[in-house]
Order: sequence, then C-alpha cells, then structure tokens
Amino acid sequence: MSTPTDSRTNLLGLPRPALEEFVSGLGSKPFRARQLMNWIYKRGAGSFDAMTDLAKQFRAKLDATAEVRAPEIVSVQRSSDGTIKWLLRADASQAFEMVFIPEPDRGTLCISSQVGCALDCSFCSTAQQGFNRNLTTAEIVGQVWLACRELEREAAARDVEGPGTAAPAGDERHVTNVVLMGMGEPLANFRNVVPALAIFLDDFGFDLSRRRVTLSTSGLVPQIYRLAEESNVALAVSLHAPDDALRNELVPINRKHPIAELLAACWHYLDEQNGRSVTFEYVMLEGVNDSPAQARALARLLKGHPAKVNLIPFNPFPGTRYRRSSAPVIQRFRDELLQRGVLATIRRTRGDDIDAACGQLAGRVIDRTTVRLGSKTFGLAIQP
Ligand code: SAH
Repeated sequence: MSTPTDSRTNLLGLPRPALEEFVSGLGSKPFRARQLMNWIYKRGAGSFDAMTDLAKQFRAKLDATAEVRAPEIVSVQRSSDGTIKWLLRADASQAFEMVFIPEPDRGTLCISSQVGCALDCSFCSTAQQGFNRNLTTAEIVGQVWLACRELEREAAARDVEGPGTAAPAGDERHVTNVVLMGMGEPLANFRNVVPALAIFLDDFGFDLSRRRVTLSTSGLVPQIYRLAEESNVALAVSLHAPDDALRNELVPINRKHPIAELLAACWHYLDEQNGRSVTFEYVMLEGVNDSPAQARALARLLKGHPAKVNLIPFNPFPGTRYRRSSAPVIQRFRDELLQRGVLATIRRTRGDDIDAACGQLAGRVIDRTTVRLGSKTFGLAIQP
C-alpha cells in the first residue's frame, strides 16, 4: 500500500540546506540534494522514476517518503494580449491565482503568497475577500515550477501544431522574472516566503538573478528590516499616497507604520543589500491621489533617493467606489515627477479582459459542491 500523499514531504518546500538534511535522513549523501534539485528545477521532473541517475533504492525511498507536488490547476484563462491566468486550488472552496505576462524582453510570472489578504487596502479586490490562509513554501515555489512546466508544454505543442494563441509572436514565453504581486501580503507570510525566495535564487533551483525576483509589500516595516537580513531580492513598495492622511485611508497599515518610517526601512534595505533602487507602486485613482500638487509632494519625498515610481492605472472591480485616472492625468503626474528628477513609468495594463490585472485577483471558487465530489476539476464555476 502506498503512503498517503499528505504524509509525504513535498520537496518543493525545501530550500537546499533543508533538502540536504532530508536526503541525509534517508541515508544518502547530502550532494544528492543537488542532483535532486537539478531534476526538479532544471528539468521539471515531477516523479522520481524519471531521475535515472539516482540509485533505484534511493528512488524507492524517495517514493515512499517524498513527493514533488505543485498546486492543482482549477482553470486557465487567456487574455487576447497573451497574458495567462491560472486559478489554483487551495482547498475545497478557496483558490488563488497566478498570472504570466509575456513581453518582448521578458516573461513575468506574478505569484500569490496568501489566499486572500488581511490588509484591507480600499482599492484592492483581493482585500474584499478577507484573509483565508498563508500559502506554504511548497505552494509558493510550486507556482513557478508549474508555470515553467505549463509554458514548456505549450512550447512543445506549438512546435507540433504551429503558432497558437498563447502570446503575440516575438514575446518571451518562458519565466524570466518572478514578482510577488499576486494575492496576499508576502511579508505577512515571512516564514514561508523567505525559503521560497532562496529556491528562486539558488543556482540549483530556478537560478534567477536577484534583480529578476521582486517582492512587493504594502509596507510592513519590521519585516522589511528582517528581510534585509535574510534575502536580497528587489523590493517594491505600495505607496499610493504622498502624505499620511491619505495613505491611512488607502493603505490602512500606514496607521501603524507611517510613510517616514516606511521610507527609512526602504533605504536601510538598499544599504544592507547593496540594491539599486526601490520601486514605489502608485495606483492612479481619479480625484483621490492624482493631482499635480500630489505629484510634487511625492517628488519631494523621493527626490535624491534611489527610487523609481511605477504608476498603475487603477483596475476597477465590481462594487468599487474608485475610478481610473484618465491617460492625460496620469501622463501629467509622471511628467511632474520626471521634471523633478524622480524616475517614473506608467505600468501598461495587461490581462484586464480576464481580470488578471493588478488588484483584480480574487480567486473565489463558488460552486463548492462540485469540488467536494472528487478531485476532478470539471464543472467548477469560477466567480467572474
Ligand atoms: N500586498 C502586496 C502585494 C500585492 S502587489 C502589496 O501591497 O504590495 C499588487 C499591486 O497592485 C500593489 O501595488 C497593489 O497596491 C496594486 N493594486 C491593488 N489593487 C489595485 C487595483 N484595483 N488597480 C491597480 N492596482 C492595484
């Protein structure tokens, strides 16, 4: 009888030192961990049978005690612009999302760190569903592992069938960048996120450069200091307002950690990690935070610091009281920043026809009965 899945160790949750310990526990040499990682991350192997250069006995032991298990796909949606959104199962009634954004020079995978979110930012649709649970390290790493495999499979199918619809011709169709900008607040799930970052950067893992992995936070100041000690990925911060009064309203965690403290933590992070700059995300909300005076106030905050501002046109969702600033207003805001020597770009909205754009990830599975009927995913109804 085979061991029930739940009692096996999911190797996607183990960064290299933990994996070395695991294989030692099975009586093997620690260097076997590197061989295993090579199979799992470089070759996308999901079963130990495929790992032909490992001794049969070791493979049998792995089979009995371990597994490589990515989150289960509930559904896939494709945008006309090539963006792909996967809804992934967290449990019978909850799901979370990841989004692949192909561009000519990069393929960005936007992953989730929690199911739902507890931070309650007033303009974000994930906030509306409340907080359900933290994702495990294996579920965070599993998203990247799964996306790489799915994209690989699509590439192989294209070779056979000719060009498909996955992405406009010429766009990068592999994961070259990972951003923790999906559902959840990554620094509120510090314990599981940091080991995942290690696997993203590890030469034997996904081997991504630190500049190609970005963690975005709403501003959990103590955890930014902790992150500076434990990782060196690129940092993005959801600022959204140039003063505390407005930020208290938009990003309520600001009441606990106001802007001055947050910026001090950012500059500390760069100093510690020898980073180039922090990206400040700023959602453009009509009549709320988009005036030229607010742009000038923002420039005063950031001028002279290694900062980049990324202006995000607001993506609406049902029930929201906000509206997107018009294109000329957003451009004017950017120009005010540029004129004052603050780097600023406007984020191109991607995947909005499938609700895959920033702040639109909701991930609710509404037909609970169908899910409980079994592990098959057909018949699932996804909230639009
Ligand atoms: N919790 C983290 C990670 C989420 S990143 C954070 O807050 O940084 C997602 C980015 O999209 C954040 O900058 C978030 O503020 C922004 N966002 C949220 N809702 C949005 C919306 N409706 N339109 C545009 N951007 C939004």
